[in-house]
Amino acid sequence: MSAEAVRVRFAPSPTGYLHIGGARTVLFNWLLARKTGGKFVLRIEDTDRSRHVEDSVGKILEDLRWLGLDWDEGPEVGGDVGPYYQSERLDLYQKYTDQLLESGQAYYALESAEELAAAREKARAEKKNFTYQRPNPLPTVAEGQAARDAGRQVPVRFKMPTDDILIQDDILGEVRLAAADVEDFVIQKHDGWPTYHFACIVDDELMGITHILRGQEHLSNTPKHVTMQKVLGFRTPRYAHLPIIFNANGSKMSKRDKEKAIAKGLEPPEIDVHDFRQAGYLPEALLNFISLLGWSAGGDREQLTLDETIELFSVDRIGATNARFDRDKLIAFNTDWATKVSQDRLVMLLRDFATINALPMATADDATLAKLLECCAGFRTFRDVQAKIGFVFTGDNEIEYDAKAVKKVLAKNEGAGFAMLEHLRAALGALASWDQAGIEALIERLCTEHDVKMGAVAQPIRVAVTGSTVSPSIHDTLLLLGRDKTLARIERAINLRAAEAT
Ligand code: GLU
Repeated sequence: MSAEAVRVRFAPSPTGYLHIGGARTVLFNWLLARKTGGKFVLRIEDTDRSRHVEDSVGKILEDLRWLGLDWDEGPEVGGDVGPYYQSERLDLYQKYTDQLLESGQAYYALESAEELAAAREKARAEKKNFTYQRPNPLPTVAEGQAARDAGRQVPVRFKMPTDDILIQDDILGEVRLAAADVEDFVIQKHDGWPTYHFACIVDDELMGITHILRGQEHLSNTPKHVTMQKVLGFRTPRYAHLPIIFNANGSKMSKRDKEKAIAKGLEPPEIDVHDFRQAGYLPEALLNFISLLGWSAGGDREQLTLDETIELFSVDRIGATNARFDRDKLIAFNTDWATKVSQDRLVMLLRDFATINALPMATADDATLAKLLECCAGFRTFRDVQAKIGFVFTGDNEIEYDAKAVKKVLAKNEGAGFAMLEHLRAALGALASWDQAGIEALIERLCTEHDVKMGAVAQPIRVAVTGSTVSPSIHDTLLLLGRDKTLARIERAINLRAAEAT
């Protein structure tokens, strides 16, 4: 690594939520900045107005905050080389476009959309790849401007030099490309807005970016970028293209995986950071897991805190081969992390999960949430917690009884479970102290009196008060609910008997 202070950036286009691959890119850049005492810049690449999705910047910032990845410069934080929204930097791109036009290194391209479409069609008919053919002679700047003034849709194209292009990639090594493979590409659209390629290299220069870590899907853009940097006299940052992330079945992990699953009638997989947050994962687990998508700490060390990851991180340890997104491993990480974070943090994260899923649990006090978590020890994600203790927050009359559970636990053997509920109603109604010891003694007494096993007493209560056969221990279940709710639910369950009989 050079002695120069490291400046890295994450440059999302606001086209939706933060994708998990994008989160990996943020993380690696952020790690490099934190490891080297450098700066991590957040820049919003919002020049493609047609792909702009309302409020996606807000969502991206929110997900970054949830992950705990802070930025030193950028939206809401400011910095010396802003603005950090490209849509607010149009005059800067214009200045460099003018410079290239004046020096003859870019030109107004006068072909109409119809002419280009016809040329494309011709190439297709001849089974050739279409490449834009540079006009000869090139239109002059005056001709181009006159055409624009006359209302024609004229873009500016970069005049690609003929020297071969060499990219030094810190992961892939030397990547060499023939200049002829890159056509004269558009740097300014006809409406005066820059394309991604152009805005990106102007900003990387003006923002002093020293290292660019980004996905391998951008490798095909890099020859364009380094060539423009050379022509404009800009510095070329160090590039490192990160391995592509694949699903377990070998397909490339993409946003479209969700649509594909929905079309097949399947549960959509989590793809965006927000999906994982909503599904009840902890940021600690997700960060730890994505840090290993392409990078390794060495040895077989895998479970690392963020501080340990910073300590151990280096670009040298990022591999070139595809990374595999192993969901079972992520679940195992989450299960483990849930036992490692402090109780206060777990409560805070459970509340966040409940809030974004609009669950009634969101308004419970901290002590209640802590107790709930204790009752669900060993859970994999907060979804498990919700499945196990959601009943606490359901209205007594809104409990949905699982038909199979009612049949098996209450109605079977001529309604033995229903009969037990009647004994329980009387006994619980008269219980002097509603606490663990009292409840346990009561259940034991009923077992002896009726000569049955524990399950014959506990399961009917469980089904009566939760609607299902899954809940924390029976005393925890009843303590969480309190006497009134317990009795109201037992009453309601007893009334199911009439319906079962018909
Ligand atoms: N705005 C680009 C994207 O979201 C950034 C690519 C880059 O890092 O240069 O893919």
